[in-house]
Amino acid sequence: MRFPLAPTAKIARHIIKHKLKGTPKYAMVLQLEPLHTCNLTCTGCGRIREYSTSLKDLVPLEQCLAAADECDAPMISICGGEPLIYPKIEELVEGLQGQGRLVYICTNGVFMRKKMREYLASVYTPTFEPQLAQLLTEKLVTEKEAQAIRKADAAAKSKTVIRPGKWHYWNVHVDGLEFTHDLIVEREGVFKECVAAIQMAKILGYQVATNTTVYKETETAELEEMFKFLSSLGVDGHTISPGYDYDAAKKDMVKRLGKDPAQFFLTREMTRQKFKDIERWGEMFTIFGTPGYLEFLAGKRELACSAWAVPTYNVRGWKAPCYVMTEGHYPTYAQMLAEVKWDRFGVDEKGCGRDVRCDNCMMHSGFEPSGALSSKPRDSWVNFKYNFGSRPPAYPSSPELTRSAYNGATIGKGHLAEAKEAVNREFAGVKSAYARGGNDLPHDHSHENSGGSGGCSTGASGPAIDQLADLKAKMAAAKKIEVKSE
Ligand code: SF4
Repeated sequence: MRFPLAPTAKIARHIIKHKLKGTPKYAMVLQLEPLHTCNLTCTGCGRIREYSTSLKDLVPLEQCLAAADECDAPMISICGGEPLIYPKIEELVEGLQGQGRLVYICTNGVFMRKKMREYLASVYTPTFEPQLAQLLTEKLVTEKEAQAIRKADAAAKSKTVIRPGKWHYWNVHVDGLEFTHDLIVEREGVFKECVAAIQMAKILGYQVATNTTVYKETETAELEEMFKFLSSLGVDGHTISPGYDYDAAKKDMVKRLGKDPAQFFLTREMTRQKFKDIERWGEMFTIFGTPGYLEFLAGKRELACSAWAVPTYNVRGWKAPCYVMTEGHYPTYAQMLAEVKWDRFGVDEKGCGRDVRCDNCMMHSGFEPSGALSSKPRDSWVNFKYNFGSRPPAYPSSPELTRSAYNGATIGKGHLAEAKEAVNREFAGVKSAYARGGNDLPHDHSHENSGGSGGCSTGASGPAIDQLADLKAKMAAAKKIEVKSE
């Protein structure tokens, strides 16, 4: 199965219950934002910009649990901000699981290993030595950290921790391979940390999903490489969504980065081009979601927006009308459902936005549930087959695949356009070597499944290694940043 049986059965029961009751609008996934503080400042993130005046505010634990209880969504996506900064994150996860909900923690991955060390410390007995030994061998914990785990005191033993289990997923934000991801999150080393966290999580028995936002500059060839790499790490599933041009993100882009948002965000037509391979990816990789949404992204059908099915609750209340657009905040989910003029939003039957801000939106938070909630017999059957059918096998790992993933440090700041521009302008002489290593320019992938060694790796062979090393040295000198060796 693509998804564990117990949560799948719970979600199916939730839908059937509401269909039998004839409930017109109900919640499927709660996007719970207990805080908006983040340790990163990703390009394109609307949250840290829109809520910049309330970054220090927290939703109290009891209020978070009450919001989940009120909307009764079977799945909770704890996002933010960075949810692992929330002081009571462990109690929140425990409380939501106590309500019988499936909990995703949407994280940038930077604090995951710390949280997993706390889990290990709380449960450590000598029976954990084989796992600890593997973590040490793979350099996922240091000797000092392993000793701290072994010698955990009573306080560490009694701490509430995030445990592995079938009702919890780490949902790690990964927007591309190393070069692209670190540019988008505007910090070097984050991709490496995400990969280390995923590896550690899999050794400890956690379920791990990844979430990817696709921007205008994202290359589909790179996305496929990314899915291969993540699959080879044992990642249990992936969600993917086109980027949306949040007003706040647009303003930030103009003001701070001096960029034209039109260069960055996707129109509907562009989205369909980017996602033309999504159904094939759904067969190759464990893409979570509904086939209806994948068909919608690939341009094969229209879907109505069901933003009310993925409500957002945060420091200001229930955010309306949707995760991406803000017209106001309501004190209760029921009040939001009753008072928002839902027919002013979403798209008409021809796919045109009823509100100009909906024109280019194909976000999963608006349209993914529409595929799941469809009552057409064909959709029900296809959904059943997709989710209950067998899960695609993990992609085989290989040194070539790993080298292709670690495709180079970023040149420091800003977004991919800035990097490409710099590469074109300053390093034109070594551009071809960079493109091979970076996977960010179109190139021939026909060799990739041949079993040969000519993959899209950072340093496939002698001259390319030299050129890339030369390029990195120039980048380091030009930008005064440390470029780590492979
Ligand atoms: S179409 Fe997109 S922007 Fe418009 S209401 Fe739906 S989710 Fe929000």
